[in-house]
Amino acid sequence: MAKTLKTVLAEARSVIPEQGPAEVQRRLAAGERVVLIDVRDPDEHREGFIEPATNISRGFLEFRVAGVAPEPDTPIVLYCQTGLRSMLAARALAELGYTNVINLRGGFQNWVQAGLPVVKDKVMGPEQIQRYSRYFLLDEVGEQGQRKLLRSKALLIGAGGLGSPTALYLTAAGVGTIGLMDADVVDVSNLQRQVLHTTAYIGKPKVEPGTRTLKVLNPDVNVVALPTRISVDNAMEVIADYDIVIDGSDNFGTRYLVNDACYMAGKPHVHGSIFQFEGMASVFAPNKGPCYRCIYPSPPPAGLVPSCAEAGVLGVLPGIVGVIQATEAVKLLLGIGEPLIGRLLTYDALGMRFREVRLRRDPACPLCGVTPTIKDLSGHPIGEDLACEVPPAGLPASVEVSSSQA
Ligand SMILES: [Zn+2]
Repeated sequence: MAKTLKTVLAEARSVIPEQGPAEVQRRLAAGERVVLIDVRDPDEHREGFIEPATNISRGFLEFRVAGVAPEPDTPIVLYCQTGLRSMLAARALAELGYTNVINLRGGFQNWVQAGLPVVKDKVMGPEQIQRYSRYFLLDEVGEQGQRKLLRSKALLIGAGGLGSPTALYLTAAGVGTIGLMDADVVDVSNLQRQVLHTTAYIGKPKVEPGTRTLKVLNPDVNVVALPTRISVDNAMEVIADYDIVIDGSDNFGTRYLVNDACYMAGKPHVHGSIFQFEGMASVFAPNKGPCYRCIYPSPPPAGLVPSCAEAGVLGVLPGIVGVIQATEAVKLLLGIGEPLIGRLLTYDALGMRFREVRLRRDPACPLCGVTPTIKDLSGHPIGEDLACEVPPAGLPASVEVSSSQA
């Protein structure tokens, strides 16, 4: 006699442990290496899902699970709409030899009722499918990765030498929302390197040609023009709206402010700086590696370092550094590859050499150390005219030059 569904479910429950939404959310937030699989049909998935779930509908689960969970002891959490289909699916995985499979109790419905965050993808149109088709060929990105980029929000501090190439590539890549923050106007001397702007816009706010160029490049992207300087008063509020911050600023005041605000907001930021023929880039991710202050605890005295206008800069240099920043931003948004966390990449254009320097988190760091002294942004100057300054020459004694130096 055939077993009733009730019996089959009871048998599955006796071998498959369940976790509630709060516990699963805690594990995901803690960065545990857990593979989350949505076993519902694709049309159910599109209506809303739990990030970062992979959608493998029940009928294909046994065929495709190895692609996301290569080891039999990989921790897996399955969910469906109410927790029943996924319970049966979990038992099927256990029978395949997976030893660490858990079912989300009550499924997606229970997750939503608990008030936990869900994401929803818009259906891509034919033009979008063509536009992003080269991503679909990459296993690490695919259609799911592209959807993720379209949902992502990146804030660019500065629409100048570094911000220009970064903005162009992030827009082309289909990062859905790009905040372009710059209070300056286009000067003819900017055009030697700031490729977002054109001669026709001399004297106009940089965000104007910036927004226009980006919208023409990719109409999918929502470009938010922020024609203001980042300051103590607006930093936390502006950053809160974005997933990642790319610092293309040209002065220490802004660099320290961006570093502190991003750390406090728990957002990663991609650092880049240039000087004459040399550039550097790194990623500062809160609690995953050092921050800018771990390397340079406090800004040098004003006036000690020459300004860009005084020191000069090779026009093509910010192109390289800005594109490195864009690369790191896309990797971080997709969660792929090895980010530049705890590493400083330096670039010498004249010698055409890259060098990598390992950076360590400083337990005495005033921001992210064991006993921090900086707990809010009140120590930053208010309304100070942040002049164009360059990075301190050389590296502090606290960093190690890596053997991977080329
Ligand atoms: Zn630090």
